Order: sequence, then structure tokens, then C-alpha cells
Amino acid sequence: MANDMSSSDNQLVLSPFFEKLNDLQLSRRALPTLPEEGTIAQARKTLPKFLEAEGHDGWDEHLTSDIAPALNAASLSPNYYGFVTGGCTIPALFGDMLASVYDQNVQVHLPNQTIATDVEACALNMLLDLFRLDRDVWGQSSTFTTGATASNVLGLAMGREWVLGRKAEKRGKDLLSVAEHGIHEVMADIGLRKFQIVSTWPHSSIAKAASVIGMGRANLRSVQGTMEPGGFTMRIDFNRFEAEAQADNVATILVISAGEVNTGRFATYGLEDMKRLRAICDRYGIWIHVDGAFGLFGRLLSDEAEFGEIIRGCQGLELADSITGDGHKLLNVPYDCGFYFCRHKGIAEEVFRNGNAAYLTSAASEDTIPSPLNIGIENSRRFRALPVYATLLAYGRGGYLDMLQRQIRLARKVVADLWDSEVYHVLSDATSKTEALERTFMVVLFSAKDDNLNADLVRGINATRKIYVSGTSWQGRSAARIAIANWNVDVDKDHKIIQSVLNEVAER
Ligand SMILES: *Cc1c(COP(=O)(O)O)cnc(C)c1O
Repeated sequence: MANDMSSSDNQLVLSPFFEKLNDLQLSRRALPTLPEEGTIAQARKTLPKFLEAEGHDGWDEHLTSDIAPALNAASLSPNYYGFVTGGCTIPALFGDMLASVYDQNVQVHLPNQTIATDVEACALNMLLDLFRLDRDVWGQSSTFTTGATASNVLGLAMGREWVLGRKAEKRGKDLLSVAEHGIHEVMADIGLRKFQIVSTWPHSSIAKAASVIGMGRANLRSVQGTMEPGGFTMRIDFNRFEAEAQADNVATILVISAGEVNTGRFATYGLEDMKRLRAICDRYGIWIHVDGAFGLFGRLLSDEAEFGEIIRGCQGLELADSITGDGHKLLNVPYDCGFYFCRHKGIAEEVFRNGNAAYLTSAASEDTIPSPLNIGIENSRRFRALPVYATLLAYGRGGYLDMLQRQIRLARKVVADLWDSEVYHVLSDATSKTEALERTFMVVLFSAKDDNLNADLVRGINATRKIYVSGTSWQGRSAARIAIANWNVDVDKDHKIIQSVLNEVAER
């Protein structure tokens, strides 16, 4: 049997594990690539075929010698540009380890037993400060989630409750709760035939959320503006949106893509756009949910001249009803962490309260910190606020602003190279280089002009093992995407690396 990890006086002895972690020689500038060829196949052979009756001592050696080398170093490397992943800051890593060591269950607010829920509330407030959202307004029903997908589920579920409430009110019906009676009864009672979500370029997780909460993926409708062939716009077309908003016997949620995942572009432009949308939504009882998984971080910026386009993309998001943000992307905390902000009090409890189990209510009913189990999906859950708290304490607003600026500046250097290149295309809605640079957030979408080169572009780039990019499809043609999300970006150093890889691939 495996030795238990405690010495005779019941002390947890963790030093052997830290030694093993050190032995892995983890580098913050690891290769951004996949494990060496054959490593994964080799590791796969070491996986047990069945659960053995007796445990054994070699388990930790197996984890470090067989499993760890077969993991990818995506989050460890600032030159991994696949998807929007982010890495993990050292303070966040330490917070995460403490969360594991103490194995807190942040389920019920128990102020006399643990400070966990206080720390969680504090971390949420610090995040609200970071994103310039008013604590008094947005502290209402905000919570930590497992990621942006879960936050989107929360947003649509709470929107569903609120929107149907408004519809019922308008028709003089009793406020039938979906949480209580289910969507079918409520819709039938009000006389609604459809529940739709309108958006522009929504992330795939919005369709997933629509499925989970019973709206259906097919009821996702686009209200994107039109442009000349070959061009594109992320921006919401107000006329199209208003037509959808007025639709008879239809309930609607508007999802704003604040940071589209392929292009990094925003669905609204400036406070005026958001004010107009808010006015339409107020008229028709529509809930506005912002998917700002990574785009929300644009709200850290305040330098008008350099980042004006990004700032305008994030302006007025405080007029929404609910907002999604991701922790494990640009905040650079470990998986799995997202946040959800909502400015309506009471809806979260209506949708997510965990029955009336008396033993699960908090000790002090007058306390202002809600028990997390009553405002989110999980009951028992991880203390995922601790890494957030740690990294925000360590870096402050300034540290995160600096991180984001490095990411954007690197992305813009790459766009500048690509724009001037004879080999590559920047896939942007811009009509000039200046415009393309100004509109670049921390994502660069591009393709090779030559079809043959383009067909092999992503593989060719990744085969250099110096950087890693992910492939996507854009307007019917394959494309490559560089998403810069790691905390450890070094603009000049990383620019040179990317430049050399793109040149190398172009010359083949
Ligand atoms: C990544 C992303 C999501 C999904 O986030 P997860 O954290 O993977 O659940 C949703 N929306 C946007 C815009 C994203 O970039």
C-alpha cells in the first residue's frame, strides 16, 4: 500500500512533492510545443489496464516520470499562441496550491468557521475594480464559475427568468417563475411561441448554453451588420436588432460579443451604441448579456491615443444586465476559473437556490455575503477565488495593465509585419494599415496568400517548434490565429521569434 503522506505526529509533509516539482525543471519559457514525438504513446503504455487491488509506492514517480513529460507546455510558454489560453502567474499558482492543500469547500458562507467566502467576496470586488464596474451595482449576484461557458449558462438562465417575468407582467399574468414551473408552462401561460438569443459572432459556448437551458441552439440569431463581399463587421446592426426585438410572441436575450474569439473585435462601438441598445432592450424587456471572456480586460485600458479602438469596444458594457469574464485566460490563473457579474439582486437565488435545506443556510442570516451554492451551478466547489485574490494582490491594476499592453503591442507588431508582407494577409475589417493596427487587440488572424502555402500554414508554423498557433476557418478559407494571452510576454524578444518563424515558413 502507498505510504500515507503524514509523519507520526500527523504533520502534512509536502517537501518531497515540492522537490519532485523542482525536479521537473519547469521553465517559464518552455517550448510552446507538444511533447517530443513518441512521449505520449510511451506514457499511454504506462496507464494501468485496471484498478489494482492494492495501491503501491511508485505512484508519484509515475506521475513525474511518465505523465508529466507527456503533458503539453502550452500554459508554461509565452510563445504558445493557440486558442486563448493564458498561463499562470506565480502568485496564482501559489494560491491554487494553498486552495488544494486546505481543500476548502466554498459552498456555504460560514463566517465563524472559515474566511473563504470573505476572500471570495473580496476577490470579486477587486475584479469589479479592475474592470471599472461599480461594486454597489455589480456586487449583487456576482460569483466565480468554472469558466466563461459556465458564466454564459448563468447569464442565459438568469436572463430567461427575468425576460419571461417582464413578458408576464406586460400581459397582466401572475409572475410565473421558470425556476419553479419550468419553461414550457410559463411560455404557454404567457402565450409565447419562441425564445431566441440574438447576437453577432457569438462564441460557440453561447449555443451550448442555449441548449443546456432549454432554448435550443437553432434559436440563436445573428444581427450582424452587412459589408461588401470579403469584408466583415462584428458590429450589431441596430435595424436588424430592433426588428428581432419587436417580434411578436417571442422572448429575446441579446448577447454582446465583447471580444470575438477569432478576431478579437467587439460588437459595439462606444457608449452611444450601448445606450441605444439599452433603450431598445428596456422598451421590449430584453436582457443584455455580455460575453467578455477575454474582451472585458480591455476595460483596463485608459490611454486614448494608443488603445482608443479597444476602449470604445468596451465602453458602456456596464449598461448590460450580466457579464461573463474568464479567469484562466487573460487573468492568468489556473484552470478552472471564470467569473459572472450580474446587477440584478434576487434572480440568482430564484434560479440557483439549493432547495431549502436548513443545514445549508449560513450561520448569520443578516450577513451580506450570500452562500455560493445558492447563486451558481455547483453546490460543493473549489476555492477558486484564492488564486485570483493572490495574483490581484501581487500585481494590482498596474501589473495587469502592463501585462495587457505587452500583449496588445506584440500583436500589433505582428500585424504590422503581416500587413507589409507579400506572402501573408491580415484578416481584418480595416481598410488601411493604421486602422488595422488600431483595431488589433491581442489576437491576430491571418492567412497565406498562396493556396498551397495556406493549406499547410498552421502545420508548418507549429513544426518549427518555436511558436504554436491554432487554425481556424475564416470566410470559407483556412486561417491561422495568434492569440497572445500569457502573462510572461516580452514584446521585443517574442516579436523576433514570431518574425523569424513567419519568414522561415514563407521561404519554404
Ligand atoms: C473562451 C471563450 C469562452 C468559453 O470559455 P471557457 O472558459 O473555455 O468555458 C466563451 N466566450 C468567449 C468569447 C471565449 O473567448
